[in-house]
Amino acid sequence: MSADIIDGKAFAEGLRARIAEAVPTFVSAKGRKPGLAVVLVGEDPASQVYVRSKGKATVAAGMESFEHKLPDTTTQEELIALVERLNADECVDGILVQLPLPKGVDDKAVIAAIDPAKDVDGFHIANAGKLAVGEEALVPCTPLGCLMLLKDRLGDLSGLDAVVVGRSNIVGKPMAQLLLQENCTVTVAHSRTRDLPGAVRRADIVVAAVGRPEMIRGDWLKPGATVIDVGINRIPAKEAGKTRLVGDVEFASARDVAGAITPVPGGVGPMTIAVLLRNTLVAAHARAGLPPPA
Ligand code: NDP
Repeated sequence: MSADIIDGKAFAEGLRARIAEAVPTFVSAKGRKPGLAVVLVGEDPASQVYVRSKGKATVAAGMESFEHKLPDTTTQEELIALVERLNADECVDGILVQLPLPKGVDDKAVIAAIDPAKDVDGFHIANAGKLAVGEEALVPCTPLGCLMLLKDRLGDLSGLDAVVVGRSNIVGKPMAQLLLQENCTVTVAHSRTRDLPGAVRRADIVVAAVGRPEMIRGDWLKPGATVIDVGINRIPAKEAGKTRLVGDVEFASARDVAGAITPVPGGVGPMTIAVLLRNTLVAAHARAGLPPPA
């Protein structure tokens, strides 16, 4: 048996197209485009690439992109002052502060300064709390993207056994909350879990968000399981001096056992930016008192 490949790239393209179609409704109601402000502090090359692609995708969806690039000497007070200006700016519906922040700047304090109604990353404690108690919230983009792929593949998730490997605030924990809301029986595994292969073997749904290359092997999986691989790990390629990307799941062996699996790259990765655009449009509608976009 060879697993179906879940094409996150194609799903994300479809989602972005649906967002672009919905934007004109907001524009005609409010006389302006939905706006996303992205703040980048310092010169981290990976962050620069992410910010550039977020800006491009925002403009391609017909929204306004406001990029704020600050030097790595920026103090916490200066950064919070910028966030407060963006909170007060009527043309800004979403604010994203690209992490990681330079040493000496407390990311918790900066995230806490963001207006929860504009917190399109869903990292503010108010949104995390709302998600936990099942209220309408802005939900972190990566786990929400994973849930979209799972529902597209499986339909109703009710009653399924799910294991989330990883318990970070940006992926693992919100992923577990979302699956619980869908009435899955959820196990959250982490570095202290005693029998990880055993926990994975019971699961109909496996979400891997660990950051360890190819750690989860095919022989850990329940036959037919749906596997969502969030991991993005760069490892040396066979060719000297080259590198390649792999997930947290050993794709070659998992493919023989799983029912469906996301590849790396081309699985979860493209969903993150698409959901960021979706969150920005949702935030814009909510702030404008409009019904949520279709
Ligand atoms: P973190 O490092 O914040 O969290 C990793 C989690 O994995 C922790 O909860 C840790 O447990 C757990 N863990 C570590 N080692 C083991 C182990 N041996 N067995 C079981 N659990 C273990 O990572 P993130 O959540 O931020 O990211 C996870 C992965 O997802 C990374 O590869 C990252 O690059 C990728 N990612 C991809 C995104 C995308 O757009 N596709 C977006 C965000 C992340 P403990 O809590 O006990 O330390």
